[in-house]
Amino acid sequence: MRVLIGGGSGFVGRELTRLLKSKGHEVTIISRQPGPGRITWADVESSGLPPCEGAVNLAGENIMNPLRWWNDSYKRDLFSSRVDTTRTLAQAISTSSLPPHSWVLITGVACYKPSLQNQYTEESEWTSFDLLSRLVEEWEEAGRLPQSVAQKTRQVVIRPGAVLGRDGGAMKQMLTPFWLGLGGPLGSGRQPFPWIHVSDLAGLILHALEPSTNTTPPSTQPEVFNGVAPALNTNYEFTKELGRILWRPTLFPVPGFLMDALLGSERAVILTQGQKVIPKRTLESGFQFQYPDLVSALRKIVKG
Ligand code: NDP
Repeated sequence: MRVLIGGGSGFVGRELTRLLKSKGHEVTIISRQPGPGRITWADVESSGLPPCEGAVNLAGENIMNPLRWWNDSYKRDLFSSRVDTTRTLAQAISTSSLPPHSWVLITGVACYKPSLQNQYTEESEWTSFDLLSRLVEEWEEAGRLPQSVAQKTRQVVIRPGAVLGRDGGAMKQMLTPFWLGLGGPLGSGRQPFPWIHVSDLAGLILHALEPSTNTTPPSTQPEVFNGVAPALNTNYEFTKELGRILWRPTLFPVPGFLMDALLGSERAVILTQGQKVIPKRTLESGFQFQYPDLVSALRKIVKG
C-alpha cells in the first residue's frame, strides 16, 4: 500500500514510517520542507493528492515546545498547524478521482473532561469546555469527509494519550530530570495519566489503515479509537514506576501552581489533570497491545 503521512517527519511519524516500510509499504511524507521522499503542503494544495491507498495526518506544532512562551501566537500556531493541514488533506481526498481506502487522523484525549471518577470510551458524549477540547473539536471537524466520499474512504480518528517512547514526546523531556533524581509526582499525583507506547500507536495506525474486512460500506461518520493502553494509571503510579526502573528517588512533588506558572494553566492541565480513558473499540476491533502495562512499556523505553 502507498501511504501519505502529513507530519510524518516527527516522533510518531518516524516510528510509523519504520513499521510501514518493514511491512513492504511505500511512504511519502508531507512536510513544510521539501526533501527526498517528501512533498510539501503547498504541493498538495496546488496538485492535489498523489496516488495512495492510505492517508494519515500527524502534523502539529509541539504543544510542549520548551522554546516557546504560552501566548496568543503560540496558541494560533497550535490550532492552524493541526486544523489547516487536516483540512488540506481532507479536501485533497474529497476532490481526488481515486481517493484512498483509509484516512486516519490523530487527535487527542483532551476532548474528555478531566475527572478523577468518570471513565470515557469512544462512545462517550462530549462537548468542548476549554481551549484544548475546542482544538480537538475543530481538528476532527476539519477532517470530516463529505458523505459521497465517506462511502468509499474509511475515516478513522485515533485519540492518543501521552505517547511514550525514547526518541521524543514527553519521555524525552522527562528522562533527564528523573535521571538526576529530580522527578516527582505532578500536583497531587492522583490525576489519571492516559498513555500509549509509541510502537503501539504506530501499530494502531497501521491497523486503521488496513482495508476493512467488514463487507458493509464504510460509515459516513468517522470510527473513533482511543489510543491509550488498557492499564488505567495515575500520575503517581507513572512517576513511581519510572523512578523504580531508573533506580532513582522520586520524593519531591512538583506543585500544581508552579506547573501553571511555567506552562500556562490552559496547557498545564495536560499534566496536572487527566482522564480515565478506556480503549473499548480499539480492543473490540481486534487490536492487540504490545505494551498494555506501564512496567513493560517503561522497561522497553529505558532498557531497550
Ligand atoms: P511532533 O511534535 O513530532 O510533530 C509532527 C510534525 O508536525 C513535525 O515533524 C512537523 O513536520 C509538523 N509540524 C510541526 N510544527 C508545525 C507547524 N507549525 N505547522 C505545520 N506542521 C508542523 O508530533 P508527534 O509525532 O509527537 O505527534 C503527532 C501528532 O499526534 C500531533 O498532532 C500531536 O498533537 C498528536 N499527539 C501527540 C502526543 C504525544 O505525546 N506526542 C499525544 C497526543 C496527541 P515538518 O517539520 O516536516 O513540517
